[in-house]
Amino acid sequence: MPEPKQPEKLIDEKGLRIDGRRLDQLRPIKLEVGILDKADGSAYIEQGKNKILAAVYGPREAHPKHIALPERAVIRCRYHMAPFSVDERKSPAPSRREMELSKVIRESLEPVVLTELYPRTMIDLFVEILQSDGGSRCAGITAASLALADAGIPMREIVAACAVGKIEGKLALDLSDAEDKYGEADLPVALVPNSSMITLLQMDGSLTPSEFERGLGMAVEACKAIHSMQREALKKKYHEIKEVVEEKEESEVIA
Ligand code: ADP
Repeated sequence: MPEPKQPEKLIDEKGLRIDGRRLDQLRPIKLEVGILDKADGSAYIEQGKNKILAAVYGPREAHPKHIALPERAVIRCRYHMAPFSVDERKSPAPSRREMELSKVIRESLEPVVLTELYPRTMIDLFVEILQSDGGSRCAGITAASLALADAGIPMREIVAACAVGKIEGKLALDLSDAEDKYGEADLPVALVPNSSMITLLQMDGSLTPSEFERGLGMAVEACKAIHSMQREALKKKYHEIKEVVEEKEESEVIA
């Protein structure tokens, strides 16, 4: 995998990171819901330089039939990096990393989806990385969760995700690609905020038990903040729909 250029320092003398953030600061996040017409549900996220689309089809009849389960829907997930999403063209063929991330994204969302309402069906979830800059599995989960909600699939809650890591001996929230590559640890976390359930926890590198505990706390707080942004993005979408419906009703009354 081509490495990003190694910065001289990851933290400057003012305690700021290479993109000017404080250690406990998230990258800017933009969320949009329902941006694709053809999919049943969709969402788009920008988190720093990450640009990610999530789309959902289903629930629909399971195909091939032998994957169907009599008591619940089957969720399938594909995390895919576009060849142009990284510095050097990535092969479009699915890599082992993409297969692993497809599995962990699915497992981070499965516990909140009421799959038991749709026996013998399948739900297909696509996470397309258009541009990647570290933390793409977490940003992908944040977007995928919104796409499921946009598809009208009943869920217990919306899942939010964020990584925390360690750079130059200090805990830092939401690592960028260079921080991930040249830092000492990366700890992606997905949270179901109201029930305080963690559905993804992975770690690369090394942390002391007390750093781990503090880091997990930072990631959980960040997931809660992202969860509020997800709720706002959903409200915005449904407010816009309400306005269009009201305008249509008004014009019908006038006509
Ligand atoms: P995550 O994106 O969830 O942090 P990783 O820790 O595996 O997942 O990857 C960190 C970053 O490394 C990615 O976000 C991406 O910017 C970069 N990366 C991953 N795979 C490749 C690749 N095949 N070529 C170039 N860069 C890659």
